[in-house]
Amino acid sequence: STMPPLLSAIATASRHGVLVRSAVVLERLGVTTVVGLDKTGTLTDGTPAVVAVRPLPGRTADELLALAAAAEGPSEHPIGRAIVAAARRPLDRAEDFRAAVGSGVSATVAGRQVTVAAPTPADGAVAALVTEEQAAGRTAVVVGVDGRPAGVLALADRVRPEAAAAVAALRRQTGTEPVLLTGDNAGAARSLADQVGLVDVRPGLLPEDKAAAVTELQRAGHRVTLLGDGVNDAPALATADVGVAMGGIGSDLALRSADVIVVRDDLAALPTVIALARRARRLVV
Ligand code: ADP
Ligand code: MG
Repeated sequence: STMPPLLSAIATASRHGVLVRSAVVLERLGVTTVVGLDKTGTLTDGTPAVVAVRPLPGRTADELLALAAAAEGPSEHPIGRAIVAAARRPLDRAEDFRAAVGSGVSATVAGRQVTVAAPTPADGAVAALVTEEQAAGRTAVVVGVDGRPAGVLALADRVRPEAAAAVAALRRQTGTEPVLLTGDNAGAARSLADQVGLVDVRPGLLPEDKAAAVTELQRAGHRVTLLGDGVNDAPALATADVGVAMGGIGSDLALRSADVIVVRDDLAALPTVIALARRARRLVV
């Protein structure tokens, strides 16, 4: 065709289900030296399920799940949706719902103050349950009632079938180990990393920590392409040289922060388009 190579590559990318915002973005994709990957909703299919309900003595599993699900009612996070899906209906209504990005939710449920959140050192009473679930590669969240831990919910997520091949392709193309940036715990991160062949694993990161990790890679001379699901990686997507959002499930905010949107529900689309961008650059230069 007579189209300039970069524009022609953008058109080809869109046929692969990848929307590239501009020719400048495509050029930057072509000089990527390292790829950062979010875990939940990116390397996994983003639909975790509750696999264990573990109340502390004095509470029942049904009660624990019902309180947690009511508090998560308004949540848009995959963890919140999984907890709602696991509970019996009808749910009590959540009042004063609050979501803290990358850490959890709180709400008033039937007059009780309920929190569902990532474990903290203050949750001593459930520490053994948390450690046990995390060692099994699961995501553990702590349910608190009126300021005290009441039990633990464990969630597991399915690894996307194409994830290992996509990680290998990204490593080949950049010559650098892809980096896993996740808010999840080290046990769950390590278990996922082993399944997809990732060796550089950075767990326990808040959204702003993910952005800081991107900046650190850039200071080390890298051109960073970051792939996120958009649930809470907006700052990191904006910081990366190229922010790529999996378009199916991300938030509007993340879609706006992204330079590239993967519309097709397939991780392999990213290495395909990076390869395309590299070829297009060679034609231009
Ligand atoms: P990832 O980086 O793997 O996508 P997130 O940053 O979305 O993970 O979440 C990090 C952690 O914060 C979760 O593993 C969980 O412990 C906690 N968390 C986030 N949102 C919620 C929620 N709605 N309910 C309970 N816990 C949550
Ligand atoms: Mg995520």
